[in-house]
Amino acid sequence: MDSPTPPAATRHIRLTSHPGQGTDSAPALRWGAADPHERGPVVGSTGNRSQRNVIGTHSGSYGVYRALAVAAGNLTKGHRADLTNTAPTDAVGPYPVWGDAHKMVSIDPWGASVQTVYADYLERGYDIRPTIAVTKAHIHLPEIKQALAFQRLQVDGKILLEDASATVTKIAVEPVWWLPGVAERFKVSEADLRRALFEETGGMYPELVTRSDLEVFLPPIGGQTLYVFGDVRDLANPNVTLTARVHDECNGSDVFGSDICTCRPYLTHAIEECIRGAQAGGVGLIAYSRKEGRALGEVTKFLVYNARKRQVGGDRADKYFLRTECVAGVQDMRFQELMPDVLHWLGITKIHRLVSMSNDKFDAITGSGIEVGERVKIPDELIPADAKVEIEAKVAAGYFTDGRVPTADDLAQVKGRGLE
Ligand SMILES: [Zn+2]
Repeated sequence: MDSPTPPAATRHIRLTSHPGQGTDSAPALRWGAADPHERGPVVGSTGNRSQRNVIGTHSGSYGVYRALAVAAGNLTKGHRADLTNTAPTDAVGPYPVWGDAHKMVSIDPWGASVQTVYADYLERGYDIRPTIAVTKAHIHLPEIKQALAFQRLQVDGKILLEDASATVTKIAVEPVWWLPGVAERFKVSEADLRRALFEETGGMYPELVTRSDLEVFLPPIGGQTLYVFGDVRDLANPNVTLTARVHDECNGSDVFGSDICTCRPYLTHAIEECIRGAQAGGVGLIAYSRKEGRALGEVTKFLVYNARKRQVGGDRADKYFLRTECVAGVQDMRFQELMPDVLHWLGITKIHRLVSMSNDKFDAITGSGIEVGERVKIPDELIPADAKVEIEAKVAAGYFTDGRVPTADDLAQVKGRGLE
């Protein structure tokens, strides 16, 4: 195979792990400044190192695929995105909270509008990428078709169409971490946070420990996707009834219908509630976070399934959290502390109906200053038989319920299917 050999001048690797090396033209970042020009653009593209003002690069873990594409010669190093016609379909904000460095620590509030807000920089040759994209879609779900067939929902021609599709605005959000704010959120020192990030990624980002002048990190993790039913601007109006679910990715259930948990049934129930709410003059929101398997990853998750089902006595609700902790060292790594940022970005101050039973999510949302009205649990008839172990264990551990909280004896009686 003919592998392209770059000119000698570009073949040596330039480290940017020390200040003063090639940062002359990098725009200053003043996180928390309300004015986007005072705040400065986030420059995380790799084409021109002297312009970069962050650690890491765009698109989370997909940056590795970009590296592969460059290595394989499929992508020209330093390719600049042509952003023609990529602007958001719906305007979001700006809201005063965008200038609050304590509430907005894990996303760039100006990430959706760099095409216009930083047009002058783009013209001057800066490669600034949006970290948020806003578009429109129609979504087709069998559960919504079923809701129509059972007349729980009706076609209105606007939110829910004749072909049973729902109209949505969907918004993809990449994480942009302002490290001093993230450290504050987790009540740790910035130095300890930087050191742990450096060491636990196998030393992937030396600037974390050598460049304290770079305060913003684009972490190699998944982001969030928002699905909005109704008018996006209504999310910021506390007088418009907002139905919302904050959902963490569970590919096995969400996409493939695996029945060991309640994820897809709860998600589609929430979508039905969002549609109903939007049709009644409200607005609906699903905030979907890429935190597979409680952010432990799918390999760990499947190991835990085996450990649960093979333990003496079989899969039991009273051992649910214990088995996860044995494999992963913790019960959960989703850390809902950063999740509310995206709700604040949307201007949300009140969620009238929160379709979630998670106490962690509820505490994070209300703790960040967003009012929550009613909490909507998953209807019992939607819980798959094999998922009783999970839901009973969670309710016993503090998940919201309007029913009885199971005792330790009750939990020992709740059993799941064996491996077959
Ligand atoms: Zn699940």
